[in-house]
Amino acid sequence: MHELGIMKDVLATALRVAEENKGKKVTKITLRVGAMSGIVPRFCSSMFEVIAKDTIAEGCEMIVEEEPAVFKCLDCGEQSIYENPGHEIKCLSCGSHSLRLITGYKSQIVNIGII
Ligand SMILES: [Zn+2]
Repeated sequence: MHELGIMKDVLATALRVAEENKGKKVTKITLRVGAMSGIVPRFCSSMFEVIAKDTIAEGCEMIVEEEPAVFKCLDCGEQSIYENPGHEIKCLSCGSHSLRLITGYKSQIVNIGII
């Protein structure tokens, strides 16, 4: 499972940030997840709940913001934005399949709440 590895990284980062800031508890984590990152946002919080058990991040709130995928067409130069990319991805202006992914391929932590 792709999400499990990512969530483990998120947990490790959150715990490190909490320690560096002498926090007692991680209350909230905001993630931004790209539409092409391969991460299914609805799996994130339940998975995180399991791995965060018995850490200071247990029971923290997980907010997942979805970032749309943006492709630039190599033929006409227009950008196409896909909220939920399916199997068929093409330029929305000219129909070309020569596209370059500009954003939406990664996941990142936006904010960590600590008390
Ligand atoms: Zn095009």
